[in-house]
Amino acid sequence: MLNRVTAVRRYLESTGADALLVSDINNIRYLAGFTGSSALLLLAASDGWFLTDSRYTEQARQEVHGFQIIEYSRMLEGISGCVNAQGFRRVAFEAANVTVEFHDSLARSIPECEFVPLETGIDAVRAVKDEPELAALRRVAALVSESFLKILDGIKPGVREREVAMEFEFAMRRAGIDNKAFDFIVASGERGALPHGKASDKAIRSGELVTVDFGGILDGYNSDETVTVAVGEPDNRQREIYHVVKDAHDRAIDAARPGIPCRELDAVARDYINSQGYGDYFGHGLGHGVGLEVHEKPVISPRSEGVVEEGMVFTIEPGIYIPGWGGVRIEDTVRVHRDGCEIITQVPKDLIIVE
Ligand code: ZN
Ligand code: ZN
Repeated sequence: MLNRVTAVRRYLESTGADALLVSDINNIRYLAGFTGSSALLLLAASDGWFLTDSRYTEQARQEVHGFQIIEYSRMLEGISGCVNAQGFRRVAFEAANVTVEFHDSLARSIPECEFVPLETGIDAVRAVKDEPELAALRRVAALVSESFLKILDGIKPGVREREVAMEFEFAMRRAGIDNKAFDFIVASGERGALPHGKASDKAIRSGELVTVDFGGILDGYNSDETVTVAVGEPDNRQREIYHVVKDAHDRAIDAARPGIPCRELDAVARDYINSQGYGDYFGHGLGHGVGLEVHEKPVISPRSEGVVEEGMVFTIEPGIYIPGWGGVRIEDTVRVHRDGCEIITQVPKDLIIVE
């Protein structure tokens, strides 16, 4: 955690502010180890204060190290007490996470201090995972993939999408997962053309492809994976489209290594799908970071500015969605190492046929 704080301090230094007020609860967990749901961090060049109310003081004493713990009864008084005691005159805050209302009350209660909105840079630090994070990501991905394989038999003609989602969630929780990362997508037949088709009351039929997009949370870390299975023997078109998506997925995984611009990695899959004649049917970006949030930095899309770095964890999830026909998406979460990447989600991606 010390390295994480050091990286954010380096960033803070470049902004010229006396301190950074961290209010995003995931960022607070990332920097201070606090797993509760209400707190603030004030981070300065060599000191740091962790502010919370009486509900969380005891938990903070157990979880938070390297910060002075301050209990407040009113949040604004907690902040102003700390800022005034240190004589800070310029405090940065997380622009993406602070409401206009909160900003105005801060400015009113500490008029001698200037509050400056910042893109904190914490999301960029968080994009590169350290060893404890990687261990947590591997753990959650493995347990969730295993749970999927356990409910695979339940994907069969006559079963409703919603039932598949429920059984899966149950199996996952029984395996020790804390929660689902999002409402599972179970999209069968024509519904497969909806990239975000939540499980519905539709019954699965023989001859359909079924796309299941799922993720769990364990110890704060998320998993994200998509499997498209065939119910009954697939026809030629289903096979062809599945293989185009699978090849796009494999090519992108082969290309994922430090130094490749995110935009170029996206293009590896996109250009291939284009070359096979399906370019009009792949509308979303290739992938996104996964960590304390199921969607975080980096973004892997045609508009990405960033470059892939060693230690990043993100998804590779090409898809083809054809209105009136259906769709295929194949998603794995990968971790970039020095000369390639490791796939941390565990369900095999060769076409699975269930009956
Ligand atoms: Zn997903
Ligand atoms: Zn995803």
